[in-house]
Amino acid sequence: MKVIIIGGSAGGASCAARLRRLDEKAEIIMVERGPYVSYANCGLPYHVGDVIPKEASLFVADANTFRSYFAVDVRTGCEATKISPDKKTVALRNVETGEVTTESYDKLVLSPGAPSVRPPLPGIDLPGIFEVRTVPDTRAIREWIEKGSPFLTGMHKYSGFQTLRPKTHAVVIGGGFIGLETAENLVHRGFDVTLVEMADQVLAPLDLEMARVVEGYVERHGIHLALNDGVAGFEKGANDTLTVLTKSGKSYPANIVILALGVRPDTTLAKAAGLEVGERGGIRVDEHMRTTHPDIFAVGDAVEVKDFVTGEWSLVALAGPANRQGRIAADVITGRESRFRGTQGTSIIGLFGAAAAWVGASEKTLKRIGDKDYEKVYLYPNSHAGYYPGAKPIAMKILFRKSNGKLLGAQALGEDNVDKRISALAVALQMGATVYDLEESELCYAPQFGSAKDPVNFAGMVAADVLRGDMPIGHWDGTEKAFLLDVREPVELAVESAPGAVNIPLGQLRARLGELPRDREILVICRSGQRAYSATRLLLQKGFKARNLAGGMLSRAHAESFWTT
Ligand SMILES: Cc1cc2nc3c(=O)[nH]c(=O)nc-3n(C[C@H](O)[C@H](O)[C@H](O)COP(=O)(O)OP(=O)(O)OC[C@H]3O[C@@H](n4cnc5c(N)ncnc54)[C@H](O)[C@@H]3O)c2cc1C
Repeated sequence: MKVIIIGGSAGGASCAARLRRLDEKAEIIMVERGPYVSYANCGLPYHVGDVIPKEASLFVADANTFRSYFAVDVRTGCEATKISPDKKTVALRNVETGEVTTESYDKLVLSPGAPSVRPPLPGIDLPGIFEVRTVPDTRAIREWIEKGSPFLTGMHKYSGFQTLRPKTHAVVIGGGFIGLETAENLVHRGFDVTLVEMADQVLAPLDLEMARVVEGYVERHGIHLALNDGVAGFEKGANDTLTVLTKSGKSYPANIVILALGVRPDTTLAKAAGLEVGERGGIRVDEHMRTTHPDIFAVGDAVEVKDFVTGEWSLVALAGPANRQGRIAADVITGRESRFRGTQGTSIIGLFGAAAAWVGASEKTLKRIGDKDYEKVYLYPNSHAGYYPGAKPIAMKILFRKSNGKLLGAQALGEDNVDKRISALAVALQMGATVYDLEESELCYAPQFGSAKDPVNFAGMVAADVLRGDMPIGHWDGTEKAFLLDVREPVELAVESAPGAVNIPLGQLRARLGELPRDREILVICRSGQRAYSATRLLLQKGFKARNLAGGMLSRAHAESFWTT
């Protein structure tokens, strides 16, 4: 069997390696337009920031490794230009010489990825404007930073005369994860960074109130955010400087500009070959990663896959799914019954020592599809036992089915061990777990790692309390008619108060029940919802109509009070 793989990075390389492990006899050709195979896209922003100083560290495996370990005929600098499904051939162009050859296949795997969106804006090709997509991109960025201006090279450090470094400006366009990661790394390189984003929030998969926490955090770490504004064009100034013009009429000076406007599936070859492209613009595949032609498979950023929670077709540009899909395609080509389960969009971004992570559906997605059978809770558990040094709060939002408790999605932000909570929730979600399962999950615990009630358990307990009716909850957008009872200590109110709320600290509540109305719903507030839970239980058992305001003051003003640094 002869298999040609187009694209030598995440999806393509994992497919090639798996194919060889399953079939020693197969002839495998992997063609890659660029100079490298199997390189770490995900590390590129950190190479820009010099966190990963050596370019060589980005090469997970090189062409020679694929040749010697896996007997794969790797052809770099080789572009597939045409597929002829009826003849089962691919036209291959040598990028250097332009020479075109034709290669036949029994099975073909497409993993061409998703190039960056590059709108035809005035001035977009000016020097100093870069993307962060490939190793050559980061090399060019580093050269521009290091050679572009004597100030940028750190001359101020060596000169006896010049002690003040002039401000060097960077503008990043796009507030997705590549834009934010690159912005952070440019701050590390000493730039004054402005991030321009057309939407009203960064990190589109997050719900707005969670994104606000991230925005407050990155602003405190030196990134200026210009939300609700699109880029209109670029102008050249003196000495290699640029001006970024926005649709609202603002202009930002820049010594360097990074475009991070998102990606679009590369369907050029697939379309020309008559393969079906789906409604979201990705190559349509079945759960075996087979395209509409039985001998052609497609994987990675270029394909549309089913969203695990909503069942909708979706595009997901993530390394995990690309690697798994490459492996599945290899399995199926060699006669195994592997299936892709759909994507949960499990993601994480690290920013200035903190992390934002999410999995499954967001509330805005559920609203968009008209799904009303959901509830949400907010919680703020410590990352590990509070008495052990270094514990940090994690802000969590959990979405679950009202009717059966099934976990639908989770978002978490914090400075310590956010990843393991969302990873645990991601596994639970894929296994179809309910919030009752989260309550019962048995997780690692010693005080430096977690709590006897881990945040994952805690999320399940809070949500299950809601579903069992033990803790009816309300949200900040429904406080208008309710009687607001604040059970915090008076000293806390001096820092932040809830307008219109009556204060009876939890410790005094039993003695002061007579001050509360029996004919109105009481919404109970505390800082995070935990004391309000005890108060709500007390009031319910005393015959009051009470609800806990989910997440308390923290869910109202995350950004102000949550972060410790
Ligand atoms: C800066 C950056 C940071 C990222 N960080 C993360 C992260 O932290 N976590 C995460 O999960 N994901 C991250 N990603 C996304 C992740 O890298 C991708 O989802 C993954 O690489 C997709 O794999 P792929 O094989 O589909 O495409 P790619 O890795 O893009 O590979 C496609 C390859 O195909 C080649 N190619 C295309 N057309 C042809 C052709 N006609 N002929 C020959 N070769 C061709 C391209 O040159 C390219 O090398 C990041 C991406 C970038 C750019």
